[in-house]
Amino acid sequence: MSVIEPAARTALAGEERSLSGWGRTARSRSRVLSVRTVEDVVEFLASEARTGRGVIARGAARNYGDAAQNEGGDVLDMTRLNRIVSIDAERQLVRAQAGVTVGQLMARLAAQGLTLPVVPGTRHVTVAGAIASDIHGKNHHRDGGIARHVTSMSICTPAGGLAEVTPASDEELFYATLGGMGLTGVVLEATLAVEPLASPWVAADIDRTDGLAQTLDLMASEEHHRYSVAWLDLLASGSRMGRAVISQADPLPAEAVVPLRPRGRRAAAADCPATLRRGPLLDVPRGFPGALLRPGTMRAFNALNWRASPRRTRGRPLALAPYFFPLDALGEWNRLYGPAGLLQYQLVIPSGGEAELERCFEVIRRRRLPVYLAVFKRFGPAFGGPLSFPLAGWTLAADLPAGAPGLRPALEELDEIVAGAGGRVYLTKDVRLRSEMLAAMYPQLERFHAERARVDPEGLLRSDLGRRLGLCGELA
Ligand SMILES: Cc1cc2nc3c(=O)[nH]c(=O)nc-3n(C[C@H](O)[C@H](O)[C@H](O)COP(=O)(O)OP(=O)(O)OC[C@H]3O[C@@H](n4cnc5c(N)ncnc54)[C@H](O)[C@@H]3O)c2cc1C
Repeated sequence: MSVIEPAARTALAGEERSLSGWGRTARSRSRVLSVRTVEDVVEFLASEARTGRGVIARGAARNYGDAAQNEGGDVLDMTRLNRIVSIDAERQLVRAQAGVTVGQLMARLAAQGLTLPVVPGTRHVTVAGAIASDIHGKNHHRDGGIARHVTSMSICTPAGGLAEVTPASDEELFYATLGGMGLTGVVLEATLAVEPLASPWVAADIDRTDGLAQTLDLMASEEHHRYSVAWLDLLASGSRMGRAVISQADPLPAEAVVPLRPRGRRAAAADCPATLRRGPLLDVPRGFPGALLRPGTMRAFNALNWRASPRRTRGRPLALAPYFFPLDALGEWNRLYGPAGLLQYQLVIPSGGEAELERCFEVIRRRRLPVYLAVFKRFGPAFGGPLSFPLAGWTLAADLPAGAPGLRPALEELDEIVAGAGGRVYLTKDVRLRSEMLAAMYPQLERFHAERARVDPEGLLRSDLGRRLGLCGELA
């Protein structure tokens, strides 16, 4: 790998702060250093990081747990490295700095008739954060996760300094970084493959089901659409538990005519670059009393949402940005869960493990887990690094109040079923997995440790998540 020598020393401004992820649980104090230039990172890793405090990069802090914080150590805030370096429309490639957000990038690309092939459920994540978690979207069964679309990355490692890394130049580092949770190096820039944006609309087929069996049947049938996702009602009781609204969609071709009624609202939604730059319609205020969000309220809300959806509709035009990022309409919605915060449990169970998947739903039902929001979908084949989450099978993401009684043992019971089925939980959503479960869930763990030993032999890259799971050599 080609190594770029560090430039003259500059001191990074830092302040002690209490940090958490989106779930607002597991807070810890770190010294946060605001990165302004690539050289800041190169110099820091070459010198100050060796003080023994350890360091981890942090993007927009949309991970749900403790991945982007480092108790008693340093955290590099990468959000100011937010320049879109170049867009090559002919070769369909974009080069962006680590802290550029998906929303920023999509808005610029849309203005040139291009778009990102994979996006998560919020546009507020950074490019490097998306890479470090190897994020997936509603089209994983077709297009894989972001890892499939990264062609090159500029990565700074403690042992090697700054290098442009491709699968050809350093295959191990390249793949270990895709899903590597920031523990293989600091990503400074990345080149991603992009694709033409046919139109700012998708056409959605929507089906409403009455219970879990019907939902699983419908989701198991062959998928013909590019995007597919089910919203599940896991609070409904009896045979209605697991009823769903399943939406399967494809981009609308450019020539398709969308009836613009009511004109103003639809037309505004279709102005893709503008919608992507727009702020939320409403912000949840600080200090929101979590007690307002209770199982009873959420049960009623879910029932309303279910009833408001059509039983069956075909080809419904939906504006792209609200279709991909519905939760972004409500700013700081994590405050709805009050001071105790929220926890998201996301599992994947390989195809063929449908009996184990049903056992997971049984545990949720038997333990009366208050799953306020549940999203279910099918993944395509695995690709990416040893810590990448997706594998061909079924994924369920369940949002729960962190203070719910009996939560930990219930999730540990789920862990056992998931690991036994050859599945895993998503580390970027995790805040409580026990380190003993990690090797069962991530069988290529040794490959990850070997790569860390090569690029970070002194173990400078450290995070709370890494320590908790034994990923950076020190168990908490
Ligand atoms: C509402 C919501 C919806 C979501 N929907 C999805 C979804 O549909 N699919 C999905 O896959 N995920 C989803 N996520 C999770 C989210 O995409 C990931 O957690 C993502 O990694 C967050 O990026 P970030 O910029 O906020 O990074 P952070 O949360 O700040 O950090 C996440 C990880 O990236 C690392 N990292 C950050 N910057 C760098 C860097 N420059 N170099 C190296 N490592 C770095 C951190 O160390 C950390 O390990 C969702 C999250 C929320 C809040």
